[in-house]
Amino acid sequence: MRTNTMRIHCLNKAAMADGTILYWMSREQRIHDNWGLLHARELAGEDRQLAVAFCLVDDYPGATLRHYDFMLRGLEEVERGLMELHIPFFLLKGDPVLAIPALAAELNAGAVITDFDPLRVKQAWQQGVAETLPVPLIEVDGHNVIPARLVSDKQEYAARTIRPKIHRLSQEFLEEFPPLAPMPGPPAQHSVTAWATVRRDLIVDDSVGPVGLEPGEAAAHIALDTFVQSRLHRYSDRRNDPVADATSRLSAYFHFGQLAPLRAALAVAASGKGEGQAAYLEELVVRRELSDNFCLHNPHYDSLDGAPEWARKTLDEHRDDPRPYLYSIEEFEAARTHSALWNAAQRQMLETGYMHGYLRMFWAKKILEWSASPEEALATVIRLNDRYQLDGRDPNGYVGALWSVAGLHDRPWKTRPVYGSVRYMNENGCRRKFKVDDYIASQPG
Ligand SMILES: Cc1cc2nc3c(=O)[nH]c(=O)nc-3n(C[C@H](O)[C@H](O)[C@H](O)COP(=O)(O)OP(=O)(O)OC[C@H]3O[C@@H](n4cnc5c(N)ncnc54)[C@H](O)[C@@H]3O)c2cc1C
Repeated sequence: MRTNTMRIHCLNKAAMADGTILYWMSREQRIHDNWGLLHARELAGEDRQLAVAFCLVDDYPGATLRHYDFMLRGLEEVERGLMELHIPFFLLKGDPVLAIPALAAELNAGAVITDFDPLRVKQAWQQGVAETLPVPLIEVDGHNVIPARLVSDKQEYAARTIRPKIHRLSQEFLEEFPPLAPMPGPPAQHSVTAWATVRRDLIVDDSVGPVGLEPGEAAAHIALDTFVQSRLHRYSDRRNDPVADATSRLSAYFHFGQLAPLRAALAVAASGKGEGQAAYLEELVVRRELSDNFCLHNPHYDSLDGAPEWARKTLDEHRDDPRPYLYSIEEFEAARTHSALWNAAQRQMLETGYMHGYLRMFWAKKILEWSASPEEALATVIRLNDRYQLDGRDPNGYVGALWSVAGLHDRPWKTRPVYGSVRYMNENGCRRKFKVDDYIASQPG
C-alpha cells in the first residue's frame, strides 16, 4: 500500500534527482504510523539510500526545558528504532534553512520529504528550505486523519461546517498503516548522537522543569491502549468532569508527533465502545482538525485579529466595563487570584504540564474577565498555555485561546459585562458539572 497522494504537496518546483532520500522529521517525531517517513521509504525503494534528520533549534519561541526534555527523550527512542531498520539518523543544530540544505548537499539528496505544519515558524522554515534546495521539498500531512489541505481550501466557520467534509472523506482516509520496511543493509560509517552533549549544550529556559509523563512512541501506544481498555467507555458521559479521569491524556503525544492521531482513531473505531467512540472521534478528528484548518488559513491565529467580526465588535463595546477583579500576568502565573478553583487549575498546569479540557475553558474565560483588556487577556492565555502545558504551542492551543476569549468557532450568547456576547462561564456552572471541592483538594497545595 502506498501513501495516499492527497497527503502529498510539493513545496517547490525542483525536479527529483538521483541520490539519497532525506526525510526531515519535524512535527511527526515517530517511526511507525508516519506517512511522511513511509513516503520517503517508498521513494528510496531498494536502490537509493534513506536518511532521517531532525533539526534542533535552541530557545524555540515559548518552549522550556519541560518541552525539550520530552522531545529529546522521544527522539533518542526514534534514533534507536531507526538503527534497527538500518536508517541513519542525523541530529542537526541551528537554523533549518541552512542546516537541511547543507545536509541534503552532503548526502547528495535527490529529494527531501517533510511534515505538514500550519504554524508560521515552521512554514517560514519550510519556505526557506524550499527556496534553497535544488531538489524537491515534499510535504506529507501525517498529522491530520483527513489531510488539512484537502479537507477544505478555506477557513471553516465552525465544527458544523467542517464536520460533513471530514465525514465524507473518512472512509478513504481511515486506513491501516503499512509497516515500515527496513533498508537492505546497515548505513556506512554512521555515528550515534551524543545525547548527553546535546543536552549539555542546549540553550533553553530551564525555569520550567520536566514532568512525569513518560515520553516516546512506545509509551504513547501503552497510553492509548490503556485509555481504550479502561476509560473510553465513560468518555461520552464524563469527559467534562476533571475528577472522573475519563479523557485520553494523549494530547502531548499528538503534539510531539509521538503518536499518530490516525492510530488513535483506528484503535477507537475498532473498540466497539459505541457512544464513547463517537464522542472521542468528534474531539480527536473534527475539533482537532478544525484547529489545523484555522491556523493554515488564518495568519492571525494568535491575535484578536483572528477572531470573528461579531466577537471583536462586542469585546470592543465592553472594553471599558468595570472588571470585578484585575490581575497582572505575574499574579495569574503565580496562581494568586481570589478563586480557589482557578488557582488549583493553574497549579495543576504549573506542576504537571496538564490541565483538564473543561477547566482550560473556565481558566481562559476568567483571564478575559479579570484582565484590563481582551488583548492583554489573550496574550496572557497564550503565554501561560504555551509555556506550561506540555501540549502547548499547538494549533489546538491558539484555537482554544481564541474560542474562550473571542468566540472563535462559537456564536453570540446573551450579553454580559466584559464578555459582551462571547460565551460566559462561571464557578457555579463548574459546580453543576463536577465536584469542584474534590478537584481543588486533589491539586498541589
Ligand atoms: C484555553 C484552551 C487551551 C488549550 N490548549 C491546548 C493546547 O495547547 N494543546 C492541545 O492539544 N489542546 C489544547 N486545548 C484543547 C483541549 O483542551 C485539549 O486538547 C485536551 O484537553 C487534551 O486532553 P486529552 O488528550 O485528555 O483530551 P481528550 O478529551 O481525550 O481528547 C482527545 C484529543 O482530541 C483533541 N481535542 C480535545 N478537545 C479539543 C478541543 N477543544 N479542540 C481541539 N482539539 C481537541 C486533542 O488532540 C485531544 O488529545 C485547549 C483548549 C482550551 C479551551
